[in-house]
Amino acid sequence: MAVKMTRRRFLQSTGCAAAVLPFANLVQADDSFVKYPYVSPGSMAGTQTVTGGICEMCFWRCQVIGKVRDGKLVKLEGNPKSIDNGKSLCARGNAGIKLLYDPDRLKYPLKNIGKRGAPKWKRISWDEALDECATRLKATIDKYGPQGITIFPHGSSAVYPMHFFEHVVGTPNNSEASFFQCRGARDLAYLATLGVPAGEEVDMPNAKVIFLLGSHLGENVHVSHLKRYLKGLENGAKLIVVDPRFSAAAAKADVWVKIKPGTDTAFLLAIMNYLAENEKYNVEYVDDNGDGFDDFCEGIAHASLSWAAKICDVPEAQIKQVADMLSADMPHVAIHPGRHTSWYGNDFQRERAMACLTGMLGAIGSVGGFVRPIGPKLGRFSWPTPMKEHAEEYSLRRLAKVHKFSPPGTPTDLIRNAALTGQPYPIKAMVTWGQNPIQTVPNQAQTIAMLEQMDFVLVCDVMPTDITMYADILLPEVSYLERYDYIKRGTQWDFAEEHQQYIAARMPLVAPETKDHERKDSVWITNELAKRMGYGEHIKAKSAEEMVDIMLAGAKPTLSLKQLRAEDGIHLQEGEDPYDVELDVVFYSEALEEAGYPPVPTYTEVPQPPAGYARLVYGRLPVHTFNRTQNNVWLHQESTLNPVWLNEQSAKKMGLKDGDMVELVNDQGVKSRTATVVKVTPGIRSDTVYMAHGYGSMNPALTVGVGAGVDDQSLISNPSIDPETGTHGMRNNFVRFIKDGKELSIPA
Ligand code: SF4
Repeated sequence: MAVKMTRRRFLQSTGCAAAVLPFANLVQADDSFVKYPYVSPGSMAGTQTVTGGICEMCFWRCQVIGKVRDGKLVKLEGNPKSIDNGKSLCARGNAGIKLLYDPDRLKYPLKNIGKRGAPKWKRISWDEALDECATRLKATIDKYGPQGITIFPHGSSAVYPMHFFEHVVGTPNNSEASFFQCRGARDLAYLATLGVPAGEEVDMPNAKVIFLLGSHLGENVHVSHLKRYLKGLENGAKLIVVDPRFSAAAAKADVWVKIKPGTDTAFLLAIMNYLAENEKYNVEYVDDNGDGFDDFCEGIAHASLSWAAKICDVPEAQIKQVADMLSADMPHVAIHPGRHTSWYGNDFQRERAMACLTGMLGAIGSVGGFVRPIGPKLGRFSWPTPMKEHAEEYSLRRLAKVHKFSPPGTPTDLIRNAALTGQPYPIKAMVTWGQNPIQTVPNQAQTIAMLEQMDFVLVCDVMPTDITMYADILLPEVSYLERYDYIKRGTQWDFAEEHQQYIAARMPLVAPETKDHERKDSVWITNELAKRMGYGEHIKAKSAEEMVDIMLAGAKPTLSLKQLRAEDGIHLQEGEDPYDVELDVVFYSEALEEAGYPPVPTYTEVPQPPAGYARLVYGRLPVHTFNRTQNNVWLHQESTLNPVWLNEQSAKKMGLKDGDMVELVNDQGVKSRTATVVKVTPGIRSDTVYMAHGYGSMNPALTVGVGAGVDDQSLISNPSIDPETGTHGMRNNFVRFIKDGKELSIPA
């Protein structure tokens, strides 16, 4: 039975609606008039509750339960047993049902008998598909070696095939978007400074000050993350937001710093220099745990308030105000490390400055500071590593002697350049698993050129995203609601509450559809490939279920899927104190100096917009997870286009008004394929325009998302590369608008 979900009911169910009807207003049924029990089509009557789901509409992985009727999933809810997201799901999590039953989903293996980019699909059997994949991948290995293959993975189901190709086949060329186009610079900068990678686990619920630099919480929605942030605000934390745009977070801020894009490191250096000069930092913590603090102070002594004020286009008094607020409430200060940090190609330095500021305030292991929630232990599951030495020998990063503080894998540009030049060796086969490099990797023209020179392209996905248009063989994967594959573990969301740990393995909420559908999970697909490629002897788990059970068996105490099922999908146990942490802070890094990088966080100027252009920056919307949700009909209805934010003074001079449709063209002459709507606002600097990422798909197979809004990545044709990590900087393109065929300059 179909469930009709109106917009109002959908928003109410996601907690987005402003109010719900009080019970007193509901009409009471009068039994005497009820002849037949009425079951409204949208009610939960007759449903069974199935536990053990883990959401993957974004990477946060909230624990969910499903309401199932006649074998169909009719509603998703947060698992009431969860100590993470609890009963809550965000709008995207609720809309997972529309992904599950999306008629555009990939259904069976397909072979491209047309051209890459303009495919003609022929349905083939799994045997035919796997045989052809294995034959062509083996042919690549025979001709070019295992390094002739590259893999672009994303999401939990891609981990198993990624490790197969890395460890067993021996390709080092693995580019994860979550590192090289997202958080790689952050993780490595914190590792180099505090000895641990950063998560988003700062103690916001109990902080006296929350400091967000470019993080737009509220638009960027992850349930327990947002719970922490909102509880902190409820508890009276002061909020400082540094952002060129009046974001949802800026709207709640005590101080909004309307900073010039690309100058954040100068802002942070000036704060730290002021704190040092005036002894307003946490002297005791720095004395006990600081490494190279005097040299650090010397290295940032040039960063006066007036110096930064000029660079950042921010009043000197406001930088001082921020520094004083941080100092007054240290160490109970939550300096949020951010998530997506690949902005300008100098991002490692900015993130190192964030970590150093955290250390100067002694906001480590303190209530309200940087904490280390310890999740429960699990068993390891991995492929054997017979080709480890080969992969190391052919590491592009090692051969080029660059990016010595890189995240795991290989920076995307090294792979793309090698593929395009054949140097230091050819890369001729590409496997893309759950990632859409067309919309995640900057410079689409180069990515498409890379794809076109491949001898073979294999894509495995749930939806026909843009990359699938370039596949030779396209394999359909079951969705996160139909498979086993991921064990989520963590702690209670509020770190100050009773210390608990949880383990939740992803279990199917419904069986995969079988009628005219032939989707498989990544463990089955990879194993079948491995057998056909001659690596069958290395297979350790016959199924995803067995893989998860192996990991659970290594938990302390030992667990199993059977036990987890009996425990409603979540095992709870006593936890550890997340505040019990004391980290050394490397202010002056000899390791960085030896590797040829600045030992002290350093500001590097970024290119400024040429006359008539504004810098393009991008971000998230609460109802979308980039292109993963663009075809979801419920979410699409909530935000059909991605409005481009334009300063109201600029709009006036350009003769544009709110709601006008425009196309965009960048400073290298690249035009957007589609148009979007203008949002005229005083809440953005005149040198900057902003839009949400992940719109404007070009694949007609996505009947909802195709051509809706503008694909910001299509305009990011001039990426920079972070020297320490090799991650991309994606905010160095400038745009102007096209209205009715005429290019409009954007006044400064
Ligand atoms: S934050 Fe939303 S989309 Fe992300 S896992 Fe949780 S419910 Fe799913």
